[in-house]
Amino acid sequence: MSLENLSPTDRQHRTFREDLLDWYHEHKRSMPWRETNDPYRIWVSEIMLQQTRVDTVRDYYPRFLEAFPTVEALAEAERDEVLKYWEGLGFYARARHLHEAAQTVVEEHDGTVPDTMETIRDLKGIGPYTAAAVLSIAYERPHAVLDGNVTRVLSRVFAVDEDATTTAAQNALRDLANDLIDDEQPGDFNQAMMELGALVCTPSTPLCDRCPLQDVCRAHEAGTEEDYPITPESDPVPHHDIAVGLVFDDDHLLIQRRPDEGLLGGLWEFPGGKQEDAESLETACRRELKEELGIDVSIDDHFYTLSHAYSHFKITLHAFRCHISSGTPEAREEQPFKWVHVSELDDYAFPRANRRLIEELERRQTEPSLFD
Ligand code: SF4
Repeated sequence: MSLENLSPTDRQHRTFREDLLDWYHEHKRSMPWRETNDPYRIWVSEIMLQQTRVDTVRDYYPRFLEAFPTVEALAEAERDEVLKYWEGLGFYARARHLHEAAQTVVEEHDGTVPDTMETIRDLKGIGPYTAAAVLSIAYERPHAVLDGNVTRVLSRVFAVDEDATTTAAQNALRDLANDLIDDEQPGDFNQAMMELGALVCTPSTPLCDRCPLQDVCRAHEAGTEEDYPITPESDPVPHHDIAVGLVFDDDHLLIQRRPDEGLLGGLWEFPGGKQEDAESLETACRRELKEELGIDVSIDDHFYTLSHAYSHFKITLHAFRCHISSGTPEAREEQPFKWVHVSELDDYAFPRANRRLIEELERRQTEPSLFD
């Protein structure tokens, strides 16, 4: 079906509003964020769930809310503390934006999460998906969500034969979801669509014989379920070699905070950067430390190498033990640095690849040679 013709039949309307909701009420998984109507708690869960597995969020969500039980508590917290509770969840801009938006809610909305599309969209980090999720689940406003799961379900039921990732397709699918939504239970409707995509209408081998939409699904009728959604060929995932310095001064290590904006913004890390063409890893390490901190270092030895995958690229991270041969570290480009003992590293929020280096440092802490 083309985007212009996306229009549900009466039977499809009924099936989405009755059979899908019945299925959801019977099969929904128990989640801590499904046991509250508190808009702040629902908002936190929706931010955490973006691009993150439910099982991972189950661990982080109660810890985060224990530390920041109200929007006021989050607004008053230091950003480093918020990032520490987010450490390991990835996509750290989410935490920075959530923190900033909590301050806006307290300062401009008397601590009440806005309940209209216009006002909630003004908050930092709240896009159309999160706005619709919070408004429908917390306030029962009829705004349909469109995420990867919903896109897949709708693309299959309506056999959408165009690239589902384009803005035009996403807008058309959102309009379609808004047409289908149950006005009396919009929160449950949205959660039912996402739950169906997660549990039944899975990317491969969907479980059509357990699906409440089976009788109105065009892809199922044609046996072409896995042909949808249509997506463009993805480019190969880039790979980078990263050289970092574990710069020791007796039993203290040099760490540096990343710039606020951009990937892993505001987290601490061991200084270093990408290897350039025709450059050895050791040279890359020395060059990066000179550029970032203004110091010359001597490399003592190779410490550890690990691989890590981010959402859009992969890295191999090579860590070298170093000591300063000349110069004194200077904070450049608003990136403060600190000297910390290995035992204090847990007090700071690090990206996951750096955290694995820390685990290796802690493991070897008892080796007499570590601080030589
Ligand atoms: S019938 Fe199959 S393909 Fe269609 S929505 Fe249900 S699980 Fe997905």
